[in-house]
Amino acid sequence: MADLPNCPECHSQYTYEDGSLLVCPECAHEWTLETGNNEDEKIIKDANGNVLNDGDSVTVIKDLKVKGSSLVVKIGTKVKNIRLVDGDHDIDCKIDGFGPMKLKSEFVKKV
Ligand SMILES: [Zn+2]
Repeated sequence: MADLPNCPECHSQYTYEDGSLLVCPECAHEWTLETGNNEDEKIIKDANGNVLNDGDSVTVIKDLKVKGSSLVVKIGTKVKNIRLVDGDHDIDCKIDGFGPMKLKSEFVKKV
């Protein structure tokens, strides 16, 4: 019983290994233990450290200049239905009056 993780479903600590599977005896959940490569599960957080998900609504927490134009997305602008993407700007979205945009998660907060 070295250092197996707790069950992700019910957080039981009595998990055990069954071949390549991990099994929880309390809720019968079975899963595989991924080691090392977590790139698929990149967690993107807002300015307050809340985890963002596809489809969330956020507000902009500082004025953001739109690259290549004189437009500014004002602080407090509400952005609906965000999509998380890879890259420096990790939020893909559409803002009323601006069209498709990319934002940085550090400049928004979840509403
Ligand atoms: Zn469980």
